Amino acid sequence: MKSTIKTPFLKWFFLPLVIIFTVSAGFFIYQLFIRITPRARRVITWIRNPQTHQDWSTEALSRCRESTPFLFPTAGYIGFLWDDSFRPGHRHQGIDIFTSESSGETPVYAAFDGYLTRLPDWKSSLIIRVPRDPLHPQNQIWLYYTHLADIEGKSYIVDDFPAGVSDLFVEEGTLLGFQGNFSGTIGKPVGVHLHFSIVMDDGNNTFLNELNIQNTLDPSLYFDLPLNGKTNHGVIPVCQNKDSSP
Ligand SMILES: [Zn+2]
Repeated sequence: MKSTIKTPFLKWFFLPLVIIFTVSAGFFIYQLFIRITPRARRVITWIRNPQTHQDWSTEALSRCRESTPFLFPTAGYIGFLWDDSFRPGHRHQGIDIFTSESSGETPVYAAFDGYLTRLPDWKSSLIIRVPRDPLHPQNQIWLYYTHLADIEGKSYIVDDFPAGVSDLFVEEGTLLGFQGNFSGTIGKPVGVHLHFSIVMDDGNNTFLNELNIQNTLDPSLYFDLPLNGKTNHGVIPVCQNKDSSP
């Protein structure tokens, strides 16, 4: 049977569509799987060989200056920053601190005095209410810690803070648990690290949804470190302005 559509018509009609589709698919795959930012490249370098980059690491329970509000909550390399992006449309709500040790070995401490809550279904997370934000004392804020469990979701949070505990006072420097690699999905681990974020209050004594960056605060001034992913271009976030020793 003879086709009623001429071949040149087919060619000029479909060719641009094929080109547009191919370019779009390529861009999508690049964004999703291939795009590696300099920061992501350094995280991979650190995970593969932390011993050669000890100078990237920050000490647990230290602070950059005497006046710095928060203690550094764990030892390691601050690999990802607040407002980094892991995929198109994503904005990271906290900082990720990677250890050089195995899952369950690196202690995590309270960065500031507050009241600890662990919801009944939280395996790897806890949140600490700080009634007076040290930078804006009229505001209440919440400090969120997560990935404190192993690949199967077995908690590394210390026994003092069982699931369901609510509004229990803890001093800064209190041991909370240990860095782990639980992603939230059993059997699909992340690199061993602590995710830490500062979450805003809803005005009714409850924390807002931590997954939305709009509900979190840039932690830079709380640690005196360049922790904003949008403005920190390539600087390893370690203390630059340490108070000089007497
Ligand atoms: Zn994170």
